Amino acid sequence: MPELPVPELLALDRAHVWHPYAPMPGRTDPLVVDSASGVRLRLAEPVHGRRELIDGMSSWWSALHGYNHPVLNEAARGQLERMSHVMFGGLTHEPAVRLAQRLVEITPEPLRHVFLSDSGSVSVEVAVKMCLQYWRSAGRPAKRRLLTWRGGYHGDTWQPMSVCDPDGGMHQLWSGVLPEQIFADAPPAGYDAYDESYADHLRDMVARHADETAAVIVEPVVQNAGGMRFHSPAYLRVLREACDEHGVLLVFDEIATGFGRTGTLFAAGHAGVAPDVMCLGKALTGGYLSMAATLCTPEVAEGISRGEFPVLAHGPTFMANPLAASIAHASIGLLLDQDWALEVKRIESALREGLAPAAELPGVTGVRVLGAIGVVQLDHPVDLAAATAAAVRAGVWLRPFRDLVYVMPPFVMGDEDLGTVCEAVLAAAVAG
Ligand code: PMP
Repeated sequence: MPELPVPELLALDRAHVWHPYAPMPGRTDPLVVDSASGVRLRLAEPVHGRRELIDGMSSWWSALHGYNHPVLNEAARGQLERMSHVMFGGLTHEPAVRLAQRLVEITPEPLRHVFLSDSGSVSVEVAVKMCLQYWRSAGRPAKRRLLTWRGGYHGDTWQPMSVCDPDGGMHQLWSGVLPEQIFADAPPAGYDAYDESYADHLRDMVARHADETAAVIVEPVVQNAGGMRFHSPAYLRVLREACDEHGVLLVFDEIATGFGRTGTLFAAGHAGVAPDVMCLGKALTGGYLSMAATLCTPEVAEGISRGEFPVLAHGPTFMANPLAASIAHASIGLLLDQDWALEVKRIESALREGLAPAAELPGVTGVRVLGAIGVVQLDHPVDLAAATAAAVRAGVWLRPFRDLVYVMPPFVMGDEDLGTVCEAVLAAAVAG
């Protein structure tokens, strides 16, 4: 139990604590979580008659193994006794080295070098720096823009915001201030929706802008916070070929899709292509601590090293945090030691079956499922308070946004809980 009575805690929260995409002082009361274990969040006091909620969100794609997992706890405890942090300039340690080695083993073949940072957005900043520095080192400083497709989302810091969707996206406030990037149309919606004329559009955009483009950056297969849209993996092959043909680097932002969420270990696996640079975050530590990674090929790293300024100009204080690295290593082990693909398939089937009735509900325009991701799209902006309350009444934690009610359960969720989560999604879609 929290030491503060809940009303007092909430009053202080409203007065002092900023929440994501929220005003200050706060206007709505968040739920107070006291603890979490397995797939359940325990509230400090009951809300709508519920003290425990099944977590449908994996804390925004990250808590793959659920909460308070004995193996991850042990990894944290073991490392805590040795050191929780140490600077990374001039020093190294086993947790970072072992994690980097593991990441290189499990990601597509040419990726061999790993920069460990502290959040997804920063891993994208690092990726952009790598690409821009690569071209500067090659004597091509004019290649400094990024090309992406509309509907994307890459984080809340400066360069990532500049490649988020400029129209429907979350960062319209900053248009005119952010670096101006190059936008192709959004990919046609649907995993099976391949359209050759759109592929031609991508080829044309890369060819036309190659002289000024350092890199193409995209979220492979699933556009996350830009609208939870799926697209054909074949476009990733089109981009790979176009980038190779015209001398442009290719960056995959796998921050949301990495570690099995879409049914392949990385979403690049749907297309069988490898990027030059890959960003990972979120589920890297199984949701325990903030850590992200930017991986690149020897070609990119050696290119930077050949330059006039031969070092990558980035060095965050909490780079390669040993506590996070130990947990990340344990989390990857936990994932790969089980038949994770079977678990994701099991969740995919449960979501397909459980969410299918949503298609008949008034106001629902689409239902889509891929791997352990389920999305119900509405024809109106969701009423967040009403939708959340409906889900809580059903015993489930959901966080709808825009016109979407969506879920991404921890991989350890049992069938009965998955059924409850699907019912809560339907209830939230009706109420919202
Ligand atoms: N890229 C993608 C695809 C994401 O989904 C997110 C987080 N929603 C980010 C980047 C940013 O990661 P972080 O919130 O850890 O900075």
